[in-house]
Amino acid sequence: MAKKPPAIKWLPMHTDSPKWADVDDRAKNEIGKRRPRKPLIERAAIVGDRLCEEFPDATCALHYNTPFQLLVATILSAQCTDVRVNMVTPALFKKYKKPADFASSPEGELEQDIRSTGFFNNKAKAIREASRQVDANFGGKLPSAMEDLLTLRGTARKTANVVRANCFDMPALTVDTHFTRITNLLGLTKEKNAEKIEFDVGSLLPPDRWSHFSHAIILHGRKTCIARRPKCDECALSDICPSAHA
Ligand code: SF4
Repeated sequence: MAKKPPAIKWLPMHTDSPKWADVDDRAKNEIGKRRPRKPLIERAAIVGDRLCEEFPDATCALHYNTPFQLLVATILSAQCTDVRVNMVTPALFKKYKKPADFASSPEGELEQDIRSTGFFNNKAKAIREASRQVDANFGGKLPSAMEDLLTLRGTARKTANVVRANCFDMPALTVDTHFTRITNLLGLTKEKNAEKIEFDVGSLLPPDRWSHFSHAIILHGRKTCIARRPKCDECALSDICPSAHA
């Protein structure tokens, strides 16, 4: 049975959190500039607690065995469902076993292998180049530091956060369309920009809760707070959500 995450205890200073040391420098700096109000901090803690109850084992839906495979799967997941990516990756990872295999794949072949995930030309370019960089600059192993991950082609903060949270147990908030919509509906941020949302929400929760919080919000978006037809009458957050309809 999945282990239930511990209840959120708000720590007045993020620096007291056991995971603060693993937060990347930019997030530390941006979060340090924010001064969230106490009611918002309390609301975020309640959201986290209740979603922990509902989704105790919330985790990444993409299938992978190594950090590099998760990087590839995350690149493929842009504008594509996780289910579709999971249909493509078993054969892909059997054929291309290491970054060098992707880097040396003949023009057109990788494109065909990932065609069904959409935008396959751009994705193939990103995967080939990121593979070459991992091989040349990091000895064939995906790095865990945010600044290193951001040097890779096709890797912005969202992708880097997915890898850091799921493969390296680093504190990371994954901001996708569900996360953007729901954190706005819940009044935890007013921003639409993914990085600003990441830092706004990061300032409300201790870093050791970030990873589970973002996975649980994404599941909540698939099950209850569905785009354009949220099921507010079934929602465990309706009493604290400023956007709830009766
Ligand atoms: S109350 Fe409605 S709008 Fe608010 S989080 Fe729940 S489903 Fe979404």
